Amino acid sequence: MPRKGYKSITVRQDVYDYFFNEYSKVKEEYAIKKGVRSFSAYVSYRFTQLLELTSSKNLPRFEHFNMGSTGVKITDRKLHKIAEIYFKPEGIWCEHDQSSECDHIDFALTIPEIQDIIRKRRKEGWKLPDV
Ligand SMILES: [Zn+2]
Repeated sequence: MPRKGYKSITVRQDVYDYFFNEYSKVKEEYAIKKGVRSFSAYVSYRFTQLLELTSSKNLPRFEHFNMGSTGVKITDRKLHKIAEIYFKPEGIWCEHDQSSECDHIDFALTIPEIQDIIRKRRKEGWKLPDV
């Protein structure tokens, strides 16, 4: 019986062997860098990594940061890229797509703070989309 707060599972021999072999390769390194000091702790650590990976997939595709009057950066989790969007007198521009029309721009235009900047610039005669 496992001790309190722990549960046991049964896995196929080849699965066990695979992970035990992986653990053997990183045993010393993990003990020092991550405080993982047993095979059981190693498997728990790998499960936690899997959990983090799975939950990061549930994050939205786009996120904006570094917003300013000249542009905004959009994190694209699907492409694993950062798209830089520029506001210029001649229009809006996505450096990633080399285009004035793309998903990043569509997303940027949904952000209220961006809309405020765009509206202000439009009044100044910049050829930006109507938002
Ligand atoms: Zn784009």
